[in-house]
Amino acid sequence: MRFVAAMMKHETNTFSPVPTPLASFAVGSPGGEPPEGDAAIEAFGGTNTGIAAYIDLAREAGAELVLTAAGNAAPSGPVADAAFEHFAERVCAAVERGCDALFLDLHGAMVTESRDDGEGALIDRVRAIAPDLPVAVSLDFHTNMSAAMLDGATVMTGYRTYPHIDMYETAERAGRILLRMLDGKADPRIVWGKRPMLTHTLRQSPAVAPMKPIMDRARTAEADGTVLAASVFGGFPMADIPHVGLTAVLVADGESGIERAEALRESLLDEAWEKRSDFVYEVEPLADSIARAKTLEDGPIVLVDHGDNVFSGGTEDVMATVEEALRQGLSDMAVGPIWDPESVRAMVAAGIGAEVTLRLGGRTSMPALGLQGQPLEISGRVRRITDGRYVVTCPMMTGLTLDHGTSAVLDTGQAEILVCSERMEAFDLGVFRHAGIEPTAKRYLLIKSRQHFRAGFEPIAKHIVLLSGPGVTSSDYSLFDFRAVPRPLYPLDRDMTL
Ligand SMILES: [Zn+2]
Repeated sequence: MRFVAAMMKHETNTFSPVPTPLASFAVGSPGGEPPEGDAAIEAFGGTNTGIAAYIDLAREAGAELVLTAAGNAAPSGPVADAAFEHFAERVCAAVERGCDALFLDLHGAMVTESRDDGEGALIDRVRAIAPDLPVAVSLDFHTNMSAAMLDGATVMTGYRTYPHIDMYETAERAGRILLRMLDGKADPRIVWGKRPMLTHTLRQSPAVAPMKPIMDRARTAEADGTVLAASVFGGFPMADIPHVGLTAVLVADGESGIERAEALRESLLDEAWEKRSDFVYEVEPLADSIARAKTLEDGPIVLVDHGDNVFSGGTEDVMATVEEALRQGLSDMAVGPIWDPESVRAMVAAGIGAEVTLRLGGRTSMPALGLQGQPLEISGRVRRITDGRYVVTCPMMTGLTLDHGTSAVLDTGQAEILVCSERMEAFDLGVFRHAGIEPTAKRYLLIKSRQHFRAGFEPIAKHIVLLSGPGVTSSDYSLFDFRAVPRPLYPLDRDMTL
């Protein structure tokens, strides 16, 4: 047997000014292109990622594996058409050469320069040349589901955790069903539905209510054989596109399983809709949050700037939360990373031990929100310079090597600030440890994240304080000019009915 597999993952924040060229899918990869074949197996094999599960399943099945390209770009603005073509051409060429099955590790919320449904477009292209090919698709929990994605998939599964610690398991679930189908032991039929609601990312974690009981029922239905697979997708709200919403996707076994799957779909979606007000996050003013953090005893106190979260498309250079923390006199802080390659270059040129004054961060303006970049003038000593690389040890993306590019630590006395050259969310303690900062020894850790930090930081946190800073991942929906989303849509239209 011959299998084709590919990974192209991008969560597109259509309000983000950060561009997404092909190089964003190849950070740390020699040659500036996403790894393919043996290089991709070397980079991702054995890690907690979806593509690693496909690699293992191909081995287990004794199949030849053609791994066309594997790239995972940090969330940002729409993907360059050329980057989309790079992946699509390789996948289609490999399929055209002939194969028995295709395994796709995708995100599900990709928008390209010319398409609002990147994954749907990719799957459409495959279907045009291979209408009957068995295709397994594993997706992120933040998928904005489209009919094109579902029409083209044979089997589909989504993460059921957030932080996403089940990437491998999710792809394995999809892949195993497809293998059983190839053996004539399963007959997957997809059943799906959606409710018009933008669930807030800070209120949608399957680990807590209101999503927990819904996701638990999905898991149970899969475990007891009601369906072959059951997934609920929270959706990604920072996308001004027509196919947003909360989605349930069930994979029934044969014609006879469809009625059961449809009943489950309605019941899961009804429960989500009934609890819609619980999926709304109420924003606390930034100064109040910092003042509250000041009164807490025992560190580390993790301050989470979710208005500028890289893994939701943030620019990682908004300085408002850092400025407010310094203004209110917080000290013994580790901060970062802040994306500012120019300041990194200045610190490298000055050298370790040098005193520098920087206009730090604020390099990026955010026209979609009418915000100008605001650098923070700050002085300190250059403490360390690093290559920005470390291996993840927390439960999310375990074993993967991350790359922040050349990075440097600025010590202001009040704070040690890590400044980096490539955007990457802080979710693993390696972000500070690789730069010689021991996070457990700090009173405050000010990071830019939303939920994924819980994978690495929650176990050491004595307190967690969420900071609603400005940025393109702000938790205040009223700042975003939604035009393409379907209306009415909850909670943009709070009084709507179905
Ligand atoms: Zn996600």
